[in-house]
Amino acid sequence: MDGKMKAVVLHGPDDYTVDLIDIPKPGRDEVLVKIMGVAICGSDPGLFSGAKRNNGWPPKYPFVLGHEFAGQVVELGENVTKFRIGDRVAGEAHCGCGHCEMCMKGFYNLCLNYGKEGSGHHHYGHNTMGCYAQYEKYNVKALTALPDSLSYDEGTLVDTAGTAYNAIRLTGIEPGGYTAIIGPGPMGLLAMEIANAMGSQTIVIGRGHRLEVAKKLGATYTVNFEETKDVVEEVRKITGGYGAHQVIECAGNTSAFMEAVQMARKNGQVAFITIPGEDGQMVAGKSLVMNQITLHGVRANPNCSSTVINLMAQKRINAKALITHTFSIDQIHEAFETFIYRKDGAVKVVVHPND
Ligand SMILES: [Zn+2]
Ligand SMILES: [Zn+2]
Repeated sequence: MDGKMKAVVLHGPDDYTVDLIDIPKPGRDEVLVKIMGVAICGSDPGLFSGAKRNNGWPPKYPFVLGHEFAGQVVELGENVTKFRIGDRVAGEAHCGCGHCEMCMKGFYNLCLNYGKEGSGHHHYGHNTMGCYAQYEKYNVKALTALPDSLSYDEGTLVDTAGTAYNAIRLTGIEPGGYTAIIGPGPMGLLAMEIANAMGSQTIVIGRGHRLEVAKKLGATYTVNFEETKDVVEEVRKITGGYGAHQVIECAGNTSAFMEAVQMARKNGQVAFITIPGEDGQMVAGKSLVMNQITLHGVRANPNCSSTVINLMAQKRINAKALITHTFSIDQIHEAFETFIYRKDGAVKVVVHPND
């Protein structure tokens, strides 16, 4: 497809405009996707501001960010048999090289050729161009078919839900047990829905409007840390004194990394989803050893998309309830302000590049 398209072009730290740029040409094993929705990720403000340039995100200016999308296949590159024109798809950010040791084991989120040009590795919306645009080309490995019963808006949450599921999968949910989730943002709320679907009781720790959303979406218990002296004590009380079987940390503050370990029961499992700014993050070392806790770092969502799409289709994940606002691409600045300042109870904000 020849021609120009609208894209949110980042010219420098926090300097972005909607510009007309060339529509990308899909190469071998790639398809061109008409982007029907792109959700603003919790990590996007830091990517836009330049705070994550030490990770190589973005590698240069100008750049197009965005990685949580759904859309329609409109052009096939060479060698593509997985999709046909017109197929509806949801995307994920990580595309491994496919042949390194980690990729061969299924951990393409940890590809050993990360960022190596020409290796076949892409981290879309991070070091490879992303989807705050009307079109983007993707390797077929980064795309999963979206059933007709799910809207494109719901499809934009597949990437986030996949990461939440990866955390749940790593901790190995115990049906009938307790899963504590710190931080009821989109990630925490999705982790809660998945834990509920797997038969766990859920304890969500947070405050304000988002804690109310957690209650509405089925949290078994909620703990408001502003009204509670000691959240660890509160979780122990709820769990008969023993603590939670699994703890999922989605809050990203120093105390959450401490408390997550402290509120786990003996032999419990703890997953950290938020990425600390650097090494040196404190965890509760004594509790960790004395209670024989297992820690899991959670990076993205390898082989999770079809599972969460099925959970959405079965209505076990209510993605729709998390999408509070939608904007056109021309309203991108307003969309970001709404998301960052959580205006009008904003949880997940979706941009429609083709409206
Ligand atoms: Zn994301
Ligand atoms: Zn690889």
